[in-house]
Amino acid sequence: GNPYISLHDQIRLQDAVFKQAARLDSLHKSTKAWRNFYRLKSANHGFTVAVKDNIVTATLPTTCASRILKGFCPPENATVTKLLEKAGMVLVAKTNMDEFGMGSHSTHSAYGPVVNGGSVKRDHLSVGGSSGGSALAVAKDLAHIGIGTDTGGSVRLPAAYMSLVGFKPSYGMISRTGVIPYANSLDTVGILAKSAIDVRLTFDLLQRSDFSDPTCLGLSSRERVRAAKHKRRRVVLASKLFVTRVPSSRRLLEVQGLASAASRRRNLAVTTSQKYHTRRIGVPLEYNIDEMHPLVRWAWTATLSHLQNVYKFEIVPISLPSTKHALSAYYVLAPAEASSNLAKYDGVRYGRKRTASADADGGPLYSAYRYDNFGPEVRRRILLGTYTLSAGAIDNYFIQAQKVRRLVQQDFDAVFRMPNPFRDNTEANIHGVDVIIVPTAPSPPPYIESLKSSRPVERYMNDVFTVPASLAGLPAISVPAPAHPDHPWNPEVAVGMQVIGQYGDDFGVIYFAQNFL
Ligand code: GLN
Repeated sequence: GNPYISLHDQIRLQDAVFKQAARLDSLHKSTKAWRNFYRLKSANHGFTVAVKDNIVTATLPTTCASRILKGFCPPENATVTKLLEKAGMVLVAKTNMDEFGMGSHSTHSAYGPVVNGGSVKRDHLSVGGSSGGSALAVAKDLAHIGIGTDTGGSVRLPAAYMSLVGFKPSYGMISRTGVIPYANSLDTVGILAKSAIDVRLTFDLLQRSDFSDPTCLGLSSRERVRAAKHKRRRVVLASKLFVTRVPSSRRLLEVQGLASAASRRRNLAVTTSQKYHTRRIGVPLEYNIDEMHPLVRWAWTATLSHLQNVYKFEIVPISLPSTKHALSAYYVLAPAEASSNLAKYDGVRYGRKRTASADADGGPLYSAYRYDNFGPEVRRRILLGTYTLSAGAIDNYFIQAQKVRRLVQQDFDAVFRMPNPFRDNTEANIHGVDVIIVPTAPSPPPYIESLKSSRPVERYMNDVFTVPASLAGLPAISVPAPAHPDHPWNPEVAVGMQVIGQYGDDFGVIYFAQNFL
C-alpha cells in the first residue's frame, strides 16, 4: 500500500500538534512576540517538520519512493533529523517524491504522483519536484518546515510552483549523513517554508560540521568562508567612501528586452536620487531565453525595477557564458553518479528482498530484479549514466561535462564581489555583484496531464535555471514573485524568483530574500 498518509488522515491524526502549531503561528505573526520567543528558546521549538523520504528516520520507513526500498527501516536517524529533533521540532511525516530524486514534478514515484489542487485529474497542477511532497505539506499547512534535497533544483522548483520559499545551501554546509545519495557531488539538503525567516532559523540549526560526513565543511573551512565574507565587507566599505557610482538606471536599460518604456520613466527619477544601496545585483543576460514564459519575464522585470526603485540597488548586467551548456553537463554528470550509486540495490543488502527462486538462478535475475523494482525514469538514468561512463564514451561525455562544470564555476567566480573561499587567489572583486537574480523556472507550473505526452528531454529543460547554481555548489533561494496585475495570483500563474550568492554566502542570500523580496 501507499506508505504516505493521505492529507485528510494527517489532518485528523495531527490535530493536537496543529493546535500547538497554530499558537506558534500567531506568535510568529506578531513580530514583537516573535522576537521575545526567539530570545527565550530555540526559535523553532514545537515547529512541525515534514521530511523527504530519501532522508533516513528511525521512527518511519525510508523508501525514496521506490519499490526497491519498500519496507526499508534503517535503525538510525540522519544527522539532519537528529538536529531537528534536538531543537524540539516535531517530525510529522515522510513525504512523497520523485524516485531517488530523479524528476522535476514529483510524478515518478512508485506510490503515485503528488498532485496539487483540482478535483478532476485534468486540473492537477505540477507541484514541482523532486521534493514535491515536502512542499505540498508546507503549502497545505501540514507542517511549518519541509526538508527536501536539492541536486539540480528539487527544492527551488517546488517552491516556485507552490509559492513558497525554498533554499538550497552551499554544497557541504549541511551534513548529508543519512541522506540517500542521488549524485554525491551535487546533493544538498534544502529547506522549504512559507517565509524566509523560517528558512533562516532552520538553516541556522542545520549548518553544523559533521565528522561522519567527509563532504560537510569542517571548522577550518568554515573559517575560510568567514574570511572571504570579510574581504567583501572591506571592499564594500571602501566603495562607499571613494567610488562614484554609475547610475543603475542606465545599466538596467542595457539589459536587453528587460526594460520597458514605463520603467524608463520611473528610472529617470532614480538617477536624480544619489542614495544608492551598497549591494549590487547581477542580471545574467544568458538567462533571458526565448522559451521563457511572458509572465515569468514580466515577474523578473518587475522584481528588478522594484529593487532598483524602492531600495536603490544597482542593477548590473552580467554575462555567464557557460550557462548555456550547464543543463547538458548536469544531465551527463547526475545520471553518471546515480548509476554508480544505485548499483548497490541488488536485492541482497537493502529493502525488498529477492525471492528464493530468483537467488537459485543467480546472475540474470539481478537485472530482472532491478528491472522490476526501479521505475522507468530511474532505469533511463542508469542506462544514460552507464553509457556516459563507458570506455568508449567517457571522453566525449563525462570528461567534457566535468570541464563545462569547471567553466560554470569560473563564470560565477568572475562576477561575484565576494571571493570564492576555496580558490587560491582570493581577493574581492571591486566591480563584482553581491547576488544574482534570475527566475527559478522558465514557466509557471504545468498541468500534470500535459507532462504525460512530453519527451524526457523536454522535461529536463525545466531545470535550465536551477542547475547552474548546483554545478557551482552555490547557495540559492527561490521566493514567490509578484503577480501580474492582469493575472491576479492563482496557483496556475505561480512564479518564483531565485537569488544566487557566492559560495558560503548562505545567510547573505537568505537575508536578501527576507528583507527585499
Ligand atoms: N530535476 C532534476 C533531476 O531530475 C533535479 C532533481 C533533484 O534536484 N533531486 O535530476
